[in-house]
This record gives sequence, C-alpha cells and structure tokens, in this order.
Amino acid sequence: IVNTHKSWCACSSYAAQWQKFVGGVFDWAAAIRVAALDCAEEKNHQVCRAYDIHFYPTFRYFRAFTKEFTTGENFKAGADRELPTVRRSMIDFLQNHTEGGRPPACPSLEPVLRPSDILSLFENHGGHYVAVIFESNSSYVGREVILDLLPYENVVVKRALGSDRAVLEKLGVPSVPACYLIYPNRTRGFVNIAKPLRSFFSAYLKSLPGVRKKMLSSPEKPSEEENVETQVWREFDRSRLYTADLESTLHYLLRVELAAHRSLAGEELKTLKDFITLIAKLFPGRLPVVKLLEMLQEWLASLPLDKIPYNAVLDLVNNKMRISGIFLTDHVKWVGCQGSRPELRGYPCGLWKLFHTLTVQAGARPEALAGTGFEGAPQAVLQTLRRYVSTFFGCRECGKHFEEMAQESLDAVRTPDQAVLWLWRKHNVVNSRLAGHPSEDPRFPKAPWPTPDLCPACHEEVKGLDSWDEGQVLSFLKQHYSRGNLLDTYSA
Ligand code: FAD
Repeated sequence: IVNTHKSWCACSSYAAQWQKFVGGVFDWAAAIRVAALDCAEEKNHQVCRAYDIHFYPTFRYFRAFTKEFTTGENFKAGADRELPTVRRSMIDFLQNHTEGGRPPACPSLEPVLRPSDILSLFENHGGHYVAVIFESNSSYVGREVILDLLPYENVVVKRALGSDRAVLEKLGVPSVPACYLIYPNRTRGFVNIAKPLRSFFSAYLKSLPGVRKKMLSSPEKPSEEENVETQVWREFDRSRLYTADLESTLHYLLRVELAAHRSLAGEELKTLKDFITLIAKLFPGRLPVVKLLEMLQEWLASLPLDKIPYNAVLDLVNNKMRISGIFLTDHVKWVGCQGSRPELRGYPCGLWKLFHTLTVQAGARPEALAGTGFEGAPQAVLQTLRRYVSTFFGCRECGKHFEEMAQESLDAVRTPDQAVLWLWRKHNVVNSRLAGHPSEDPRFPKAPWPTPDLCPACHEEVKGLDSWDEGQVLSFLKQHYSRGNLLDTYSA
C-alpha cells in the first residue's frame, strides 16, 4: 500500500491521525505494509506522478510480488475519512487478493464456518493458545485481531461466525463479538473482556503469559525526526509582497502540482490554457518569468491538439534560457509564506497571494486582457481560478469548500472591484474556519485580514462591534497586491 498525503492545508489535520493509523497497523506488516509518501515534497514528485496521484490523500494498493497498483482509492470526504474504514479496505484488499501469489505470511481471514470445525479447533492445537473470535459476518473485529497478533508467538487467532446460537450457548458465549480461548493446557472458556473492541481483544491476547513478539526482523518504524529539514528563517515585512513567494508558487504549480498529470485533455486542458493565459497577462513579477509565461501561453494557444502530454509543458518550462532572459526559478524559497515548520504554509499561502494578485491586476490593468476573451468579463478571473482549484489543486477538501462558496455567491460579482472583494471575503471565511485548526501556524494565527496593525483604516466600530470599512479594504487590497508593493529581496 502506498498512502499518499499532502503535508499542508486540510490534510495536515489528518497527519496526527495518519501517524496513529500507521502505528495501528504496524503489526500487520507481514501481510500488508503501509508506506506514506508526501507528494507535496518535490523529491517525491517522480514517484507520485508514476502512481498517478493528483489529490490527497490517495491510496494505492500493490499486490504482493508485483509493481502494479490498483486505482480508484482516492480518499473521499465523509465516512471514508474514518480510520476504521481505511483498515477495513486494507482487509478487503487482502481477502480479495486471490490472484497471483498471496503474501506467504498472510493468515486466512475467512471464518471457520461449520460447528464441527469450531469444535475441532479445541482438539488440534499444538501447545499454544487458540483464540476464537465469535462475531457477525459483517464484523471486522476478528480479522483485525488476527492481523494484530500476527507477529506474536504462542497464540493463533481464528474467527467464527456467531450465527449458530446453539454452539454459542454450549460454549457459554453470551453475545458477539466475543473471545473464546483455549489455553495451552487445553482448558478453555469464554473470556470476559470489558469492551468488545478490537483494541481490548488484542491487548488481552498479547498480555497472556508466554505470548511474545517473534524475533523476526520487522520493518523499521518511521522516525518522526527523519524528514525535518533545517531551515534558515528569512526576516520579512508583512506589509509587503515578495517576488520569491509568487515565483516559488509558480514553480511548484507548474513543475509539481500540474506535473502530477501525465497528460491533459478536454476540460482539463482548457482550464490549464485559461489559467496560463491569465497569469501570462497579469503576473506583475520579473520580466524573465513573464516572458516564460507568455511563451507558454502562446505555445498552448497554437497547439492544434486536444490532448497533450504534460512532459511537453515541462520541457518548455524547464528550458534553461536564463541567458536569453526567459526563466523561472526551479526551487521554492518562501519568504512571506515561510512557516515555522516545513509542513506549514508555503504553497497554499503562495497560491492565495497569487490569486489575490491576479484579481487586483485584472482591475488595475484591464487592457492586459484584451484579445483573450476575458476582457469586459468581471467574473472571468474568479471563474478561471475556481476551475483551477477544482481541477488541479491537490487539496481536494479545499477545492470542495471553495466550490461551495463559489456556487453560493460568485454569480453576483459584477465588477472587477467586486471580484477583488469577493476573494478577500471568501479567504476570510476560510481563515475563520481554520482558526485553531492543526494546519494553523502558531506564528501566523488565522484571523480576519488585514489585521488592524496592517490597515487601521479598514477597521471600524459600529454600535460597539468590529466591522469593516469595505471601501478602505478595497484600497488596501489594491495597494497590497500591486506591482509597487512587490519586493525582489531573496529572489535568486
Ligand atoms: P493563508 O490563508 O494561506 O494566507 C496567505 C496570505 O494571504 C496571508 O499571509 C496574508 O498575507 C494574506 N491574506 C490572508 N487573508 C486574506 C484575505 N482575506 N484577503 C487577502 N489576503 C489575505 N485549508 C484547509 O484546511 N481547508 C480549506 O478548505 C482550504 N481551502 C483553501 C482554498 C484555497 C483556494 C486555497 C489557496 C487554500 C485553501 N486552504 C484550505 C489552505 C489555507 O487557506 C491556507 O492557505 C493554509 O492553511 C496556509 O495558511 P497561511 O497562514 O499561510 O495563510
């Protein structure tokens, strides 16, 4: 299994859950091993691309002894997010693993069906414990306990269906799920366990005298410290916009996020073309970058194809044309978007800044959009950003929320100024929702923005309540996301 997740934004709140999850199935390693791959890390980009991972978290299951992976395990919001559901899907995968070689250490997860077979378990044991978990057909408890006890010796776990009342009564089992234990000395009986839960059954069986972990070499537990990079803090001014952030965002967007797609066609390709047109026309940054974007836009516009391999885009973007003055940095260097830990802020912060910059620039330089089909369409920028987010932004949860907000009110936008304010308002909705969230950087608490220190005039008190002076907010946004507020400090 490869379990792939993004280290930032919505998904980072699941980081603690994932750690817990991996810990919870660590003992299953002889049958099924879990590895986590962070596709937000550029160094993993090739692998993530090969596994066709666009959204996070995504699962890829690999059958034993093959490099082929199954698809269709993108993690959906809702019930699927529950970790037991993920464990169950791992068990289903193991049980369906009938073709090809099953992992030799994978125990049978099928129930012992016939009462006579259950009774024969009591006789045929070889001096160790045999635990029989009685349960309903749909229960996963027995299978989880079987896998939990896999690396332990002196105990064998079986599951049996508790549908035969007569057998249960005979054994003195009052309800299911329940554990019936045959001791090495052949005495046996129902075990009264405080709660009929997987963790209670497994912990009890592991604590039995003589039951201990086999001395086999097992995969090493991942070290939490392993991937922590040492970063040098860059001092910066919160009232300024940094070229380094916008260029790092473009680098990540073009070379990592979009590059997760092997090829683009249909609506995806149209979204890419429109998005590139927007940034080519409106990006207020340095000339070499603008030239690269223009070249990319012209090339995309001239393509007669309705499907392109993304490698062709990468070839163009990666062309080292620094000498000819066409160039985009090929690494990230966050300044206003740096986080106090490597997994915080960075790309999503940069993407917001890029989006705000584009809405402000569309209002400030409407002539830049002449001939693109976007001129005179105040919603065009927002609609294109909306399509980018729902089609390509790796954080699926973010895309879903953004789409909900767009459906609610984007249609009401009538002027470029309203577009600037719409995005500002919605970003503040996200800020409020994420306050106190694990993705919040303690050094950059989520709060309505701009804060009073950044824009005192934006804030006023109406009848004792804090409120916005939206005229002032608009002026502030236009100044903050303007070319004049861009600082090239730290840009390579
Ligand atoms: P960010 O919120 O990323 O803000 C970046 C910078 O923008 C701030 O430092 C500030 O300078 C400026 N800014 C802040 N507020 C505003 C505003 N109202 N108007 C203009 N400028 C502002 N994460 C989730 O967990 N769930 C989600 O649903 C979600 N949705 C997202 C949707 C989009 C489109 C994007 C781009 C990101 C989304 N994220 C979501 C990520 C999340 O919003 C943050 O980007 C991330 O947590 C990093 O936060 P940050 O502290 O760097 O500040």
